[in-house]
Amino acid sequence: MIVINKELCTGCGNCEKDCPLDAIRVVADKAEVADHCVSCGVCVRNCFFEALIKEEQDQLGAIKCTACPVRCEILKGNTGACKRYLNEGKSLIRTRDLVTEVPDHTTEAGNLKPLITAVGAGTTYPDACYAPHIVQGVQDGVDVVTVVTEAPLSYSGVKVKIDTNFYIGEEGASVRRDGKIVGMLFTEEYGSKMISIGGVNLLTGKSGFNVAKTIVDISNREKVTLKVDQGPTLELQVGKRPIINGKEDERMRIGCGSATVGLFAKQLSQVVDEALVLDYHVVGLLSEHAAGEYVGMNWSGVVPNARKSTRGRYFGEHGNGWGGTNIQNPLDAILRIDTSIAKAGMKILVTDTTGQNAAQLTVDADGNVREVALEPEVAAVVQQIRDNCEESRVSAIYTGGSGGSARGGVTTYPIKLSKAIHAGDAKLTIGGAETFILPGGGINFEVDVEKVVPKAFTWVPSPATVAPVEYTMKKDKYTQIGGHVDQIVDVATIKNRGQ
Ligand code: SF4
Ligand code: SF4
Repeated sequence: MIVINKELCTGCGNCEKDCPLDAIRVVADKAEVADHCVSCGVCVRNCFFEALIKEEQDQLGAIKCTACPVRCEILKGNTGACKRYLNEGKSLIRTRDLVTEVPDHTTEAGNLKPLITAVGAGTTYPDACYAPHIVQGVQDGVDVVTVVTEAPLSYSGVKVKIDTNFYIGEEGASVRRDGKIVGMLFTEEYGSKMISIGGVNLLTGKSGFNVAKTIVDISNREKVTLKVDQGPTLELQVGKRPIINGKEDERMRIGCGSATVGLFAKQLSQVVDEALVLDYHVVGLLSEHAAGEYVGMNWSGVVPNARKSTRGRYFGEHGNGWGGTNIQNPLDAILRIDTSIAKAGMKILVTDTTGQNAAQLTVDADGNVREVALEPEVAAVVQQIRDNCEESRVSAIYTGGSGGSARGGVTTYPIKLSKAIHAGDAKLTIGGAETFILPGGGINFEVDVEKVVPKAFTWVPSPATVAPVEYTMKKDKYTQIGGHVDQIVDVATIKNRGQ
């Protein structure tokens, strides 16, 4: 139970912030603990003044949960810190029924597929215990075994992919939630900005509870608000458009500026003398580009305001302007005009890689460049660029390592399980979803959270995230790897139990 030293308590309120059960409050400048406190210890670790003490004495009438090292003491009618276990009077029960329906997308012919999911299975602890369910069924005439557990994984995180041109900060910048560091900006991918949330070092660091909650919220497709250091505020929800500094992005770029020029050189050459496609990666200059030459163009005399890479390709600068560059005014896209080559009255299109911004410019006889109205045929090509863009959205990949103690409930020879996974003789799924297993040692996996049974991730205040892990293999293989064959139950028995 939690005891408060009122003399040391300053009423700062830090203990309230991460309590998973809202069981501690500051009243009249002193912390007070409610009856439904389960002694998980989160507030003790959050108190700067050592005013909270977790006493070994058990809470009278509470049942101690042994499903993870936190060992919550749960009174009747209440749940533990992870909200997965409820004291229903005589015992603790899992608050979610076992999900035995496996999502459709894991049912490709010829593949091993889990007989049930691990969602709602619960956790057995310590790892010497058998997994909660080891079931057997028949697939394509062959005996198959699926072993499931909801595994606390401290080696876990989530990679968030944001399809946007909007500037979100410098790679390596810290990402915060409620002021606490929960991740960092990762390297950009083609048309997308990437954020890494979590990882073991952040999970075991000072803000570990925030990190665990953030990984779980994103993976469960909840909306989260993050702030990038020296960067914008991000409102992100998997499957939805990103909102960056209050502005919702609509489209993902079709490619870089060079790729856009390459894709639309023919159409552009028919309506303008020059096109500059702005992009934070590569700015494309149509007439100088190989694609422009291919459609019969010669360099127009326009020099872009960017660093030259190769012919017709220039490096853009990141910023809050068009195409994620620092250019806000289309006239600023041009550094100078070579008047010995440029023709007076020539038509120049400045646009970006999503066609969301576009302006038509012209060159006067004295070399002065000015904006004119966008002609309908030019606007039509810009529309074509826009129509060929995909929608901007947020996606996420949960990453975890289940090559450690999580194997104990499956087999007495853990290395054999790892080898079977890498050899393709055993299949790892997460909440029924296919995983990608990283090469090399261990069982490091990645899974698309949108394919996992909804709301399948939880967290415990050790802290660790809890992922539903399923191992499926032929029964012969399970016997060969030293599986707990004496614990196998017919899958029909488990399914009938839930009805
Ligand atoms: S021990 Fe856990 S449940 Fe109890 S008040 Fe502290 S944080 Fe909340
Ligand atoms: S946090 Fe751990 S000890 Fe507490 S209820 Fe959940 S599984 Fe049990």
